[in-house]
Amino acid sequence: MVTRTPLFSQPPDTPGPIADCQAGLSWRQQLAQAITQAAELLAALNLPESLLPAADQASTQFRLRVPWSFVRRMRPGDPDDPLLLQALPAAAELNPIPGFVSDPVGDLAASQGPGIIHKYPNRLLLIATGACAINCRYCFRRAFPYLENSAAQAQFGPALEYIRAHPEVDEVILSGGDPLLLGTLQLQRLSEQLSSLPQIRRLRIHTRLPIVLPARVSDHLCQWTRQLPWPLTVVVHCNHAREINGEVRLALTRWRQAGAHLLNQSVLLRGVNDSVPALAELSEALFDSGVLPYYLNLLDRVQGSAHFEVDQMQAQELMIGLRKRLSGYLVPRLVREQAGAPYKLPAE
Ligand SMILES: *Cc1c(COP(=O)(O)O)cnc(C)c1O
Ligand code: SF4
Repeated sequence: MVTRTPLFSQPPDTPGPIADCQAGLSWRQQLAQAITQAAELLAALNLPESLLPAADQASTQFRLRVPWSFVRRMRPGDPDDPLLLQALPAAAELNPIPGFVSDPVGDLAASQGPGIIHKYPNRLLLIATGACAINCRYCFRRAFPYLENSAAQAQFGPALEYIRAHPEVDEVILSGGDPLLLGTLQLQRLSEQLSSLPQIRRLRIHTRLPIVLPARVSDHLCQWTRQLPWPLTVVVHCNHAREINGEVRLALTRWRQAGAHLLNQSVLLRGVNDSVPALAELSEALFDSGVLPYYLNLLDRVQGSAHFEVDQMQAQELMIGLRKRLSGYLVPRLVREQAGAPYKLPAE
């Protein structure tokens, strides 16, 4: 037999060190079983108990939450694992740092009644739900009262009326929280309501669920996607190549085959992806799954996240390294969101 080097080699899926005892569970069951206790997370990864007091204390401010599916991609015994750092509450979150505030991007000022954040003329965010499957420690929403601001609670009625009264809005972005925590039937009801607005030309979803809970990309969700009256763009949120395993790749591929345009946004995070190799591997892994890099966001300066910040000069140097190493279409746009700005500001 002749052994040939494959033309397109995929990195083999390293089987997760933690046994997959959840195969076959629905996304809702997996969500219900997500880890919320630091002790459980540390034990699952063979990490020292000495990390526990700080983790417990920091989770009183913003709760720990991470699905097992994501935990299985973490490296046991490594307290610096880039996936773990995004989920494990850290002592540094408790230090007040000047300039790091509760609403760094001005969402409260842009909030237009239940579930609408309208900052840019032609597009707006419809906050479908305040909840997420994972609580990312750097999230700018960690201190924002999204639960009281979700549109689903008011059955979307007032949100629809707002959009109807703004005919310049031609794209609705389902956001959150994570809008895919709504059931597919709820999404269907919502898209039917939106289809009564003649101005809408595009629908978009901002979600991390295909990454952290890939079972959410169900047959039902793909069917819903196929019958939408507008093109659907999905902007997923992935920060590190190791977040993409076989299950995630399959979920993304299926959704793409159902017609979704897939883009990714990342946050530039110290200790997670602040190197040229990490960012380049991320872009390549995304593309292997049918996803184009869209934005690389500089950190929003929310209180409790200062230890994740990469300064803009260093970010610009990383971008130069990326441009040398990657095909142009694999290079994300480095941006910063600034309260009051009319779009996400280029930061290069
Ligand atoms: C990020 C964002 C959008 C989308 O902006 P794009 O540049 O089109 O991706 C829309 N509205 C708000 C309030 C946002 O924060
Ligand atoms: S999934 Fe997105 S919105 Fe939810 S906690 Fe993470 S960064 Fe924040």
